[in-house]
Amino acid sequence: MTLIADDPTSAQLVSTDPRDGSQVGSWPVADQAAVDRAVAAARDAAEWWHAQGFAGRKRHLQAWKTEITEGAHALADVISRETGKPSGDALLEVVLTLTHLDWASKEAHKVLRRTKVPSGLANINQSASVGYEPYGVVGVIGPWNYPFYTPMGSISYALSAGNAIVFKPSELTPATAKWIEDAWNRAVPGHPVFSVVVGDGATGAALVHAGVDKIAFTGSPGTARKVMAACAERLTPIVVEAGGKDAMIVAADADLDAAVGFAVFGGMGNAGQTCAGVERVFVEASVHDEFLSRLAKAAAKLHPGPGASDSYGPMTLARQSDIVARQLDEAIARGATAVVGGPDSVADGYVGPVVLRDVPADCAVSREETFGPVLVVDRVADLDEAVRRTNDTDYGLTASIFTKDLAKGRALAARLKVGAVTVNSVLGFAGIPSLPFGGRGDSGFGRIHGADGLREFSVVKSVAVQTRKPMLDLLTMDRSEKDMRMTEKVLHLLHGRRGKH
Ligand code: NAD
Repeated sequence: MTLIADDPTSAQLVSTDPRDGSQVGSWPVADQAAVDRAVAAARDAAEWWHAQGFAGRKRHLQAWKTEITEGAHALADVISRETGKPSGDALLEVVLTLTHLDWASKEAHKVLRRTKVPSGLANINQSASVGYEPYGVVGVIGPWNYPFYTPMGSISYALSAGNAIVFKPSELTPATAKWIEDAWNRAVPGHPVFSVVVGDGATGAALVHAGVDKIAFTGSPGTARKVMAACAERLTPIVVEAGGKDAMIVAADADLDAAVGFAVFGGMGNAGQTCAGVERVFVEASVHDEFLSRLAKAAAKLHPGPGASDSYGPMTLARQSDIVARQLDEAIARGATAVVGGPDSVADGYVGPVVLRDVPADCAVSREETFGPVLVVDRVADLDEAVRRTNDTDYGLTASIFTKDLAKGRALAARLKVGAVTVNSVLGFAGIPSLPFGGRGDSGFGRIHGADGLREFSVVKSVAVQTRKPMLDLLTMDRSEKDMRMTEKVLHLLHGRRGKH
């Protein structure tokens, strides 16, 4: 990514392929005025979109899905060029994302339609219902690591809930966003319900200031804090999907080969640039050495590179390599052992696989997000220690557990302070659209995906309709003594010692 700005009115954002620096595309940077125009157009379009109702919106979203599906290879190619990830990984990202778009567009009416709720004995004269209405315009701010899957987790659900979207993609991946905007304009021509504004953090800040009705932010916790502070000025609600320091727990009875396979996939796939992957592994003492030896063999086979058949690509964000290098240097200097790779693995924009053992628990690589193909493996005395250490982090996004005893896996899952747990897989929730996704602590708050994801982008409206006069007339300035005496009796019957409750 390069920002070329001879004068501020003609600034261009150039997107480049991190593998060879070749240009993927170039777009004008949206300043505050351009963002304001996009939000105003979205606001007009939002009325039309809301008026389509669930059935109309589903039809348009399905048409968009078909348009994307027909161009899936072309989209995967753009993703691959902007991020450097192998084309197979990029295609998998497209497949997973469309599953969510499909589900959200079909399920929205079931989750969000107005529903009657009990009004209670004392209010039997009223008919009560809960409905979910769109906010209006949702501003979506996205990261670069999964430039389609991640923002679409907000976009698909917010659109299905009836909102219009203005999307500010990462400055590293504008071409991917522009590709999906073009697909929208082909599928639903003439209605800018979904539009893209291109630029860096300044354009993101402009979107927050443009008076949108909700912000869906995905990125680092540091930026999340700044965005949330800006939202506070207008009390704009926000959902935050931030980073993770995800742990895997390997119990003594685990299928070690399966655990190794998933540790390598979750820790090193996409060059480790996966918020919900694996960064730490806690292994019960009796199987620690065997696990580590199998993991080392599997990780050493990986070969990063620019080709489609390479295991993974370069670091998408060049300066992320420096963070990885710094964390590795510190860990080694403080006594950690690199079982695979080491500080020399960081070279020429790529990071080779790294497996560390004996890392002091307060090292950055044990506590901060690494976002590189690095696994820190620790021996734990028992599963209680594994749970304690998994929870000993500021983050709380996901965790995984490997055990053949599924009841034990479920019981451990209940003790982990994270938003999603997988048992005997990693990232297993990613393709299950009915499962909400989100974190706690520095990993953020609020949920995308699933019914909760649809509600996240809805304003709850309660309606109480008085259908006949109440038995006791209490909401009046002329309450009678008789009604008050009766009210007291009812109170004791319902809530006092004399009552049955
Ligand atoms: P980042 O925080 O640097 O940037 C995220 C987005 O915020 C970008 O579009 C950026 O331009 C924008 N931005 C920057 N400053 C802004 C400001 N002041 N106001 C408004 N917008 C601003 O994150 P990144 O490097 O693009 O992405 C990597 C991070 O994202 C990692 O921490 C990763 O764990 C996280 N992530 C989380 C999830 C999740 O769902 N929890 C998914 C993917 C990535």
